[in-house]
Amino acid sequence: MPFADDCIFCQIAQKKIQSNIVYEDENFLAFLDIHPANKGHVLVITKNHIEDLLKLPEEQAKEFFSVVQRVANGIKIATNSDALNIVQNNGAAAGQAIPHVHIHIIPRFEKDGLSLGVFRQGKYEGNEILAIRDLIKSKIPEKRIERKIQEIEEKEEKQKEQKRSAQHIRHIRRETEIA
Ligand code: AMP
Ligand code: ZN
Repeated sequence: MPFADDCIFCQIAQKKIQSNIVYEDENFLAFLDIHPANKGHVLVITKNHIEDLLKLPEEQAKEFFSVVQRVANGIKIATNSDALNIVQNNGAAAGQAIPHVHIHIIPRFEKDGLSLGVFRQGKYEGNEILAIRDLIKSKIPEKRIERKIQEIEEKEEKQKEQKRSAQHIRHIRRETEIA
């Protein structure tokens, strides 16, 4: 399991630093945030050191979000909260203080007075919105390369299997003809 020596979340994952764990499996860990925005604020992390969500392999990202969903359900019931915020920062400029991928789950209550920051209401000039839309659209990969490789390998394996069974059938036919 690749850990980074100077990373506090890697140390938590290795149990070198104490944390209040609410969920653990082979690849993920969820524990109480030491400075909760509301009581029951949980962080879900990958056990291995991955800096941010963009560097997480797609298959792990799926698993990660399914763990987040399960933990969030538990938090909502346990805290009897009215709602939840799921917050995820990538990079220092986005407020990520600890460069080890993590997702915040924060229980919310009516009129709890918590502010997670209000989005600035910017605006686009002229056709700028169309240019940005088209640029982003063109840069989104259709499928992750790792998935493509897996698909090719599966297809090749299937073809080999079909070839093997065709040979087997021919072999049986020949034997029955001889007999
Ligand atoms: P972020 O700003 O998204 O990187 O969030 C980092 C979070 O980690 C903050 O909410 C901190 O309160 C929390 N945190 C830092 N050290 C610990 C620790 N030892 N145990 C639990 N939570 C921590
Ligand atoms: Zn780490």
